Amino acid sequence: METELFIGGKWVPASSGNRFDVLDPATGDVIASVADGGEADAAAAVDAAAEAAKAWAATPPRVRGEHLRRAFELMSARADEIAKLISLENGKALVDAKGEVTYAAEFFRWFAEEAVRGEGIVSTAPSGANRILVVRQPVGVCVLVTPWNFPAAMATRKIGPALAAGCTVILKPASDTPLTALAMAGILAEAGVPAGVVNVLPSRSSGKVVSKMLADPRVRKVSFTGSTEVGRILLAQAAENVINTSMELGGNAPFLVFADADLDAALDGAMIAKMRNGGEACTAANRFYVEASVADEFSRRLAERMAGLVVGPGTDEKTQVGPLVNEDTVAKVDELVRGALEAGATAVTGGERPGGPGFYYPPTVLTGVAGNAPILKEEIFGPVAPIVTFTSEDEAVRYANDTEFGLVAYVFTQDLARGLRVSEAIEAGMVGLNRGLVSDPAAPFGGVKQSGIGREGGHEGLLEYLESKYIAVNW
Ligand code: NAP
Repeated sequence: METELFIGGKWVPASSGNRFDVLDPATGDVIASVADGGEADAAAAVDAAAEAAKAWAATPPRVRGEHLRRAFELMSARADEIAKLISLENGKALVDAKGEVTYAAEFFRWFAEEAVRGEGIVSTAPSGANRILVVRQPVGVCVLVTPWNFPAAMATRKIGPALAAGCTVILKPASDTPLTALAMAGILAEAGVPAGVVNVLPSRSSGKVVSKMLADPRVRKVSFTGSTEVGRILLAQAAENVINTSMELGGNAPFLVFADADLDAALDGAMIAKMRNGGEACTAANRFYVEASVADEFSRRLAERMAGLVVGPGTDEKTQVGPLVNEDTVAKVDELVRGALEAGATAVTGGERPGGPGFYYPPTVLTGVAGNAPILKEEIFGPVAPIVTFTSEDEAVRYANDTEFGLVAYVFTQDLARGLRVSEAIEAGMVGLNRGLVSDPAAPFGGVKQSGIGREGGHEGLLEYLESKYIAVNW
């Protein structure tokens, strides 16, 4: 297990000598002590990334792609080992951690293939006076900031396209889950990625360290995945030097079930959309809107399935729902549920925080939730499904759009015209139509409204790390 900073191709201690603890969410015990990067280390990481930038940008795209392909192979070969590490520091069930490793490695494979697709354009100006030549060039040194909920995938979803495009990076992982990010650095180094192209800087003083890097004129982009609150701070800091930004922020996904839906499929979709990662996903179904005539049946059957899930330490093979990542997260979930119950909701299953060690919260289904309850406005980030009923398509769409977020929505109906009409009317970057999972490295992932700016994955994911240079030519 690597526990030092990774700067300029070397494992180094923090220049201050400081370290911080990483906890096991299943017990609250310390599992590792990691070097705590500070501002001097941030400056060293930018130096390393800037020094490596020119040679990496000039490396043939095919060669860049081959390094990423090798990283995909190494990651796939070590999938079990990496899944255990994710589960250990994040708490998620091993089955979810294994799913994350496959998803995360796939970003390396996808962008290994996209590395050779940074095509430009040649055209004739409408006036006929000249040619228009557009070439794509790497943005330059990028600062990548990632959350704890998908410690591998959120890192590879940024590192993959950045490296494919010819950019060099400094990754600042979440301080709850730095070990997986450091493991990714080891894999990329082993895959032959040259020193300085990828630097990883765990830190407990994330605000200071990231500000220091964004103030450096050599840094040309910040790509952030995390809360809308921190995204706003980084957008303001990026404005100082007018640097390129990609923001993957919070969500508040509505899950719509129409009376004409295949209810079995809707329940399968609900279990994935709600319970993947124990509900700790930006894509997690946060609010269930169910047409009144099928609401009782849907709620009862969802509660049965939620109550049947095995809760326990993530690293136990039998576990289906692990603990949440830390005490603050459990406390927030508990507060939202208690607020809803006090306002008249009923807990059909769950609804009470257990005693004992670890950061556990039981799978919970709430019915009769008041329309203005905070649980419908805020990201729950836990295994709780609040259910509200609706009586018309217009009302369902109005409810779905009643949020400042717009990441993803889920719609279940067997009427294809309605499905597409509602998908178009919902203000979200992504829609799962009769499907509870949208994440795919080959598709553009991202949100509208306060859920973000830009897309990750697909061909769009590569373009986020390329600038278009237009050359007006006479020949
Ligand atoms: P967070 O608190 O915003 O933290 C995300 C990252 O930002 C962490 O690395 C964190 O470091 C760092 N950070 C915190 N304050 C900072 C500051 N002032 N300046 C610079 N960096 C700072 O989010 P989180 O709790 O880790 O993750 C959950 C959130 O991520 C949810 O809102 C979720 O919806 C969102 N998310 C979005 C997507 C998406 O694709 N749209 C995907 C996954 C998660 P520390 O750990 O040291 O605080």
